Amino acid sequence: MKTVGPAKVIIRRCESYDLDAIRRIVREGLEELGLQPHGRTLLKPNCVSSGPMFQNAYTRPEFLEGVLLALQDRDGGMTELAVGERCGITIPTRTSFEGAGYYPVFKRTGVKHYHFEEVPQVEIPLTHEARLRDYIFTPEPVARADFFVNCPKFKSHPWTTVTFAMKNYIGIQDDRHRLIDHDHRLNEKIADLQHIIQPQFIAIDAITAGAGRMLTPIPFDLGLIIMGNNSVGFDTVCSHIIGLDPETIEHIRFAREQGFGPTALEDITITGDVSLEEAQAKARGFQVGLVRVEKYFEGTHISAYAGPPPELERTDYCWGGCPGAIEEAVEILRLFDADFDEKIPHMHVVFGAYDGPIDVKPGEKVVFIGDCAKFEGTLGDKLVSVKSLYRDRATKDPHEAEHDDILAKIFSVRATLRDARDEPFIRLEGCPVSVAEQVLALVMIGGTKNPYMSASEAMRFNKGYLMWKGTMAAKRLRGIPYQKHGAFEERGESAPE
Ligand code: SF4
Repeated sequence: MKTVGPAKVIIRRCESYDLDAIRRIVREGLEELGLQPHGRTLLKPNCVSSGPMFQNAYTRPEFLEGVLLALQDRDGGMTELAVGERCGITIPTRTSFEGAGYYPVFKRTGVKHYHFEEVPQVEIPLTHEARLRDYIFTPEPVARADFFVNCPKFKSHPWTTVTFAMKNYIGIQDDRHRLIDHDHRLNEKIADLQHIIQPQFIAIDAITAGAGRMLTPIPFDLGLIIMGNNSVGFDTVCSHIIGLDPETIEHIRFAREQGFGPTALEDITITGDVSLEEAQAKARGFQVGLVRVEKYFEGTHISAYAGPPPELERTDYCWGGCPGAIEEAVEILRLFDADFDEKIPHMHVVFGAYDGPIDVKPGEKVVFIGDCAKFEGTLGDKLVSVKSLYRDRATKDPHEAEHDDILAKIFSVRATLRDARDEPFIRLEGCPVSVAEQVLALVMIGGTKNPYMSASEAMRFNKGYLMWKGTMAAKRLRGIPYQKHGAFEERGESAPE
């Protein structure tokens, strides 16, 4: 497996988002690693969600600008310097870039940018033994990159424990491809994505890290910039900083097993002006987000029940799908409505093949979430049978993947809830049922404030949505296809093999 050489990680102190300091530190990191960006240079930030309510969820614009300026300082023959991202599911990347304050950065630095959902998606064949499927799609600028810069945010994640360098790859797929295998096999999917591209340089925004959650993390002043040249080695050191054994984080272990780098500290050179021990001391108390849904809702008006997802031989809990999505949905609703926990009526949410009791009192709603939800038993005085709708992953062909429009989703969630008004339970279909759909369902059931109706969010969303749709319509008229079938041959130097 081609990676850029022996794994090296540089830990530097940086207590604030001072642009000049970030630029200098990152330039020195590039010098120490002997790297000069060249050819098509592509930087991938983490801009999953942004704006005032999501301040700690994304790579900060000062950090992005500092890294871009440092790359320009070290120009080794760049033919293009661009930033590209596909932000969180259903939200246009334009909306996220605007909320993050990225557009003025692009203007000041003169770099190009790609909204990954608006460029052609190309097919990358996979041949490694542990692959989930034989080919996957990625935006064309990713496939063509010669020098790939991974620029994530240092955060917890409710589905994959952490989101450092490797988890940031989920944004190199557009929604319709990202949602395939975004379930209990998510960690394997993340390992598969490493076969699309390898970074020459990684710089993580760990100045203010995000603890506990993914979309609405708790700010944690870590005061670090961490840089490196190998994803597995990099994520290994970041894991040790927060006191975790990287071998217990599945996507890191899978990538190590597939030859992408070491998880043994003795195989990684660590330098910088902060030792690993000092970094660990700074990170003391940092929370990760892996909490089972039953535990998460303890003491609230919501009772949760989780049975195993399909493929029981692999896991008894779907860490990568619907249960984690409801936790993120609730955190968003708590941000927008301080009275959410009081307002939400007593209700029950059920995931997977659950075969225990559900103690439903009169008037309480029961919501079965996800295609794999299954139950035989009584709800109140009614005997019910909920069948699994799960489709085997082998039947999901990325060539045929359909786009689920957010407005269509809003109408469909509304219709589902309306149709189930007099039924003993509600069924939300999907694999996974996204955070957005679960937000909408909870808003409609609970009568709490709707984030999609918040004036500032709605304005930014509508602008991004209309521009995205307009751009795609114009491309269709010009005969530019959404995706190109057949192995993409024009790979840049960042291709791993
Ligand atoms: S339906 Fe949801 S819980 Fe079930 S496997 Fe799919 S993502 Fe996981």
